[in-house]
Amino acid sequence: MNFTLQRASHLCFESSLPVAICTITDSTGKTIYARRAKANGHFYKFCANMKAGSYRISSNTSDNFKVTVLGDIPAWNMQLPAPQWVRASAITKTIVTGDSKRLSPAETNVKLGIMYLNPKFFALPFYAQEFIKAHEEGHLFYKSEEYCDLYAVNKIMKQGGNLSPCLLALENGLKRSPNNVQRTENFFKSIVHHGK
Ligand SMILES: [Zn+2]
Repeated sequence: MNFTLQRASHLCFESSLPVAICTITDSTGKTIYARRAKANGHFYKFCANMKAGSYRISSNTSDNFKVTVLGDIPAWNMQLPAPQWVRASAITKTIVTGDSKRLSPAETNVKLGIMYLNPKFFALPFYAQEFIKAHEEGHLFYKSEEYCDLYAVNKIMKQGGNLSPCLLALENGLKRSPNNVQRTENFFKSIVHHGK
C-alpha cells in the first residue's frame, strides 16, 4: 500500500497478518527500508523513521498495513571514539571501477580522499550502499573497521535513518567469516542502547 508523509516522522506499521519480510520503497522504486524477521520467525508490528515523501510498503504476506505517526524522529546521541588518525578531510572523488574481483564492495584511498566503488557495491540495495559509503568516509578518521561501522550508523541516524537497514547492510554486504560475525555482533552490542 502507498502512504505519504508531509514531514519527517517516527512511525508504527502494523499488519493484520504475520510478516517475515517487509520493504518500503520510495517514489522512484528504491528500497529505503527493509526489515526481516530472524530465524524464520515473523512479526506484526514495527517502528521506523521516515523522511517526508511518498512511499510504498509491501511484505511477503500482506500489503495492507496500518500506518500510525507516533511523532518526530527521536534524537540520536552516540559518543564516537576519538579519531585514530587524520587523513584527507573529505572524500572528494568517487571512481567506479569494473573490477569485480575485489573482496569488498568499496575501498578508499584515505590519503587522497578517493573512494573506489566496484560492481559488488552496485549489486547491493540502496540502504546498504548508503551505509557502506558512510563507512568508507569513516576511514578518513578511523583505521578500525568496527569504529567505521559506528561512524556510519551515527551519520545515518543523525540524518533520520534507521538501525535495521544498517544491520542488514553488514549481514548482506560482508563475506561470511568468523571475524565478520564478531564484527556484526559487536556492532549490534554498540547500537542496542541507542534509539529504537
Ligand atoms: Zn572498512
